[in-house]
Amino acid sequence: MPGTGFETLVVASGNAGKLRELGALLRPLGFCIKPQSDWAVPAAEENAQTFVENALLKARHAARLTGCAAIADDSGLVVPALGGVPGIRSARYAGLDASDADNNRKLLESMAALSGAERQAFFYCAMVFLRTHDDPVPIIACAHWWGEITDAPRGRGGFGYDPLFRVPGEGCTSAELDAEAKNRLSHRGQAARQLRSMLAAGREWQGAGA
Ligand code: IMP
Repeated sequence: MPGTGFETLVVASGNAGKLRELGALLRPLGFCIKPQSDWAVPAAEENAQTFVENALLKARHAARLTGCAAIADDSGLVVPALGGVPGIRSARYAGLDASDADNNRKLLESMAALSGAERQAFFYCAMVFLRTHDDPVPIIACAHWWGEITDAPRGRGGFGYDPLFRVPGEGCTSAELDAEAKNRLSHRGQAARQLRSMLAAGREWQGAGA
């Protein structure tokens, strides 16, 4: 970001869908944005209990191994009627090497007996920006996106659970939205805009009076 001393921003993710969305959402920041695969950074072990802790450890891992400022997004789908599942295990819901299709199938099976309000769910995104791996003042933005789980997949866009996530007021799933509309509405889009304004305000490193 011009003027901050941080020119390169490493994105701590190997998820192609997420990288695509984050690329568009973070472009206005003016960093040179690169995925952690450019440094062959291996995936961090996500062993915390919350999205925000997992985002912090992913960003710290990438910042440590690259020497660059880092951003991480830990996100997932939360179904209150299932007690919060798949939650922080969204990517691994149907097993360690599960595909999106495997996870979607398992979610539909788990929800087969649920109807009406029990099918409400939200995507959650915790986004963390670290200037350095030992940054004591991370910038953290979190957002929810509420919708409903359909009873069959619809649409080919997006990634993950998008074909099952009916978007209120749009009459379609998030896999049927175009990329611009999804970024405008989504948990990730909302978190990225919050984070962008916190970074632009510059208070985090210039002092509250700046
Ligand atoms: P993470 O990479 O550990 O944060 O896991 C994210 C997982 O949550 C993805 O693999 C998807 O299963 C799910 N997820 C997060 N954001 C979205 C989204 O925007 N659409 C669909 N699924 C998502």
